[in-house]
Amino acid sequence: MRLYDVSMPICEDMPVYKNRSENRPKLTVDRDFSQGARETRLTLNMHTGTHVDAPFHFLPGGEKIHTVPIENMVRPCRVLDFTHVADRITSSELEGQSIEPGDFILFKTRNSLVNGFDPNYVFLDVDGAEHLVERKIRGVGIDALSIGRGQPNPEIHRLLLKERIVIIEGLRLAEVPKGKYLLIAAPLAVVDAEAAPARVILAQMEGNATP
Ligand SMILES: [Zn+2]
Repeated sequence: MRLYDVSMPICEDMPVYKNRSENRPKLTVDRDFSQGARETRLTLNMHTGTHVDAPFHFLPGGEKIHTVPIENMVRPCRVLDFTHVADRITSSELEGQSIEPGDFILFKTRNSLVNGFDPNYVFLDVDGAEHLVERKIRGVGIDALSIGRGQPNPEIHRLLLKERIVIIEGLRLAEVPKGKYLLIAAPLAVVDAEAAPARVILAQMEGNATP
């Protein structure tokens, strides 16, 4: 079985959203071997690196990350190749992809080929989000630090989160061919948080070919 680790390594000089310094992880050594053993402290914004957004991110009273069912994040998924898209994923890009209820869709875009934060990252447009809501998908992932961009970003998040569609952001899909995989996404169960960092793995399923 082939496994793809599609998570971002966490380090102080990793790419962060809009290059905001407060989004940068901080690692400090609390104790070292002179005190018996090494212990490191990590200070991390929940939206830094590969992470899962829960409804509470944009909806007051929405579901928190620790109660999102793990079955919604460990399930078959499909990687769609949208590396040809220059700016945004629209409903017309999604037409003809035979997206069905319960699907978990991951968007591989040119973002995966860029190192560092690109302010013009490819994102899911409002009508693309509406399309996914109509299709009643279970979850969506993208290789950008936010699934939306610019002024419609909150609306894009709200459309998806209102329907309890799981959002994974910050994927790295450069090495992953389009096709079907088992998605293993396990965000830390931080009680009452709106999001949490996750290690995300794709396991190649038998007979995987182009969808
Ligand atoms: Zn987020």
